[in-house]
Amino acid sequence: MALSDESNNRFLMAVDIKTEGSLYGFNQYDSLNGTPLQIPVDDIENRFKLNSSEKEVLENHSFQLALYHHVLDSIQKNSKDGRKILPPSIYVAASGRLVSWNDSEQKNKQQDLNELLNWIAKSSLNQIEIDEIRRQPPEKSEICSKCPYNSGPIKLCGPLESEIGLIENPLDNAN
Ligand code: SF4
Repeated sequence: MALSDESNNRFLMAVDIKTEGSLYGFNQYDSLNGTPLQIPVDDIENRFKLNSSEKEVLENHSFQLALYHHVLDSIQKNSKDGRKILPPSIYVAASGRLVSWNDSEQKNKQQDLNELLNWIAKSSLNQIEIDEIRRQPPEKSEICSKCPYNSGPIKLCGPLESEIGLIENPLDNAN
């Protein structure tokens, strides 16, 4: 999204449309009895005022959004009259709301992304030691179930307290 203000300052903001909360349980006639993403916050025009479901959607897509932001920022840095890049946002289809982080949260997300990219680069060069991995807590084992380090009979990593290495009976270590 390209924006400008009354002082002719110009901005760019990555916006991603997400359809979570728009299918099962969606109530087109009565949003208060629809999905949690349909429940409005008090200040509906404020994209930084979020309910817990909106926070969750942003969190679930935080790396994707941070990557968009990073790419936009890199392009604008190489442009003579580059625009300021605003924190990325999600357009929540279920409510029609734009939701976003503030600048300080964005800095943290960008830092997380940089750490992840460095980690991926080191990992692809086989420079990662297993004890360098901050393992997910058991309640976040769903994340590990999609991770290549946790696939196949030989688990290179997994949630904290789960067994890693050769798993004789994967059902005993299901996550
Ligand atoms: S298995 Fe889980 S803890 Fe290990 S690297 Fe993958 S996501 Fe992180």
